[in-house]
Amino acid sequence: MRDLYTRFASGVLFPLHELAKGHRTVAARRELERTQWLAPDDLAEYQCQRLARFMTDAYARVPYVRRLFEHHGLTPADVQDLDGLRRLPLLDKPSIRAHTDDLKARDATGLARFNTGGSSGEPLVFYIGKERVAHDVAAKWRATRWWGVDIGDREIVVWGSPIELGAQDRVRVLRDALLRTRLLPAFELSPRNLARFIDGIRRFRPRMLFGYPSSLALIAAHAEQSGVRLDQLGTRVAFVTSERLYEHQRETIERVFGCPVANGYGGRDAGFIAHACPQGRLHITAEDIIVEILDASGRPLPAGQTGEIVVTHLATADFPFIRYRTGDVGALDPEPCPCGRSLPVLGRLEGRTTDFIVAADGTVMHGLALIYVLRDMPVIDQFKIVQESLARTRVLVTAATTLPAATRAEIAAQFRRRLGAGVDISIEQLAAIPRERSGKYRYVVSQVPAPVGAPTTQITEQA
Ligand SMILES: [Zn+2]
Repeated sequence: MRDLYTRFASGVLFPLHELAKGHRTVAARRELERTQWLAPDDLAEYQCQRLARFMTDAYARVPYVRRLFEHHGLTPADVQDLDGLRRLPLLDKPSIRAHTDDLKARDATGLARFNTGGSSGEPLVFYIGKERVAHDVAAKWRATRWWGVDIGDREIVVWGSPIELGAQDRVRVLRDALLRTRLLPAFELSPRNLARFIDGIRRFRPRMLFGYPSSLALIAAHAEQSGVRLDQLGTRVAFVTSERLYEHQRETIERVFGCPVANGYGGRDAGFIAHACPQGRLHITAEDIIVEILDASGRPLPAGQTGEIVVTHLATADFPFIRYRTGDVGALDPEPCPCGRSLPVLGRLEGRTTDFIVAADGTVMHGLALIYVLRDMPVIDQFKIVQESLARTRVLVTAATTLPAATRAEIAAQFRRRLGAGVDISIEQLAAIPRERSGKYRYVVSQVPAPVGAPTTQITEQA
């Protein structure tokens, strides 16, 4: 049962807020709640109609798109379906950087400027128009309601993006208060703050949680160690996004908060790509986003096979993302979801290409192969693995006591067994592991480019 205040916030306050910002969010959400139940063929047809309109619009208004079409001898009439779309080249971050101004529609107004992550050492500046904001917010809103909660329900947000926190002006504070959202800064998760946050969560009794999986898992683990119960607060769901969700994090959050974890996948740049339904499947926002899975040479892969995720966002005619390379690796699930929504399912999401480690002999493996080594050592609290080159990998660890020489030798031996006998393993014990600037936490960062679509060693979470 949604309480009265939630109905007021979801039905009146938030729509007014969006209207004031010039966003057609409410109409977009109503449409998405209808189209998720379309028959698969009808949904595909709907997507093609949106693609055709988007291409016509972008061709007429965006200088970069006009030039691109002319260069390839195409007109919008040639790009009306997936086959047509594949006649266009892929768009990567360097191309966006080289053509930022030409990617803006000539008549666009109210574009918001974004600057994403230095986590890969490659900041990217891009723009987002109002149509796109409305569609991304609507897609998140729809997915929220899949879980029996709604905007206006009491929500704890554990977040650390400088973009979000920079917007903490008085309007934002008022909005958060009206919509009953409380923000906890994810880059301030020291033991003292954790205790304070846990106390705050107990008193606030959130209906839903939202945050990085690493942050929510850390809060949950701290509560458990301190003997504080959080499973009787009436929390219905924990939404996580922005990082890979590891099985051990899911288990900890679900056990401690007594609610399911719902994973979401997307980004500021690529949009709200997919979200888990209560059956646990990641449904693609297919009305707005065309997802392609491509091999290393850019050829499409059939459902079930793993490759790079490439997206075309159909609400971005103000600053188009056409066949945009996300750098993420995943596969489409050939099976429909039993929940009855025809939105296609992302079956496997294996993280970013930078989550993969390359051994000296060229073997590509997921970072989990190294994560398991450290996770099995009780003396280690937190860790981060940085592969600087094929010849050198750094292992940053925190521990309550000085790391014994035998443990260091064991780590080095295990890592060399996987990476190569001659690899330099540098083990550094620190007081704290630095987070990414955004507040995100990453267990593994490889600075060695992994050939995407290349065969990887098979590792499952349960291994
Ligand atoms: Zn489903």
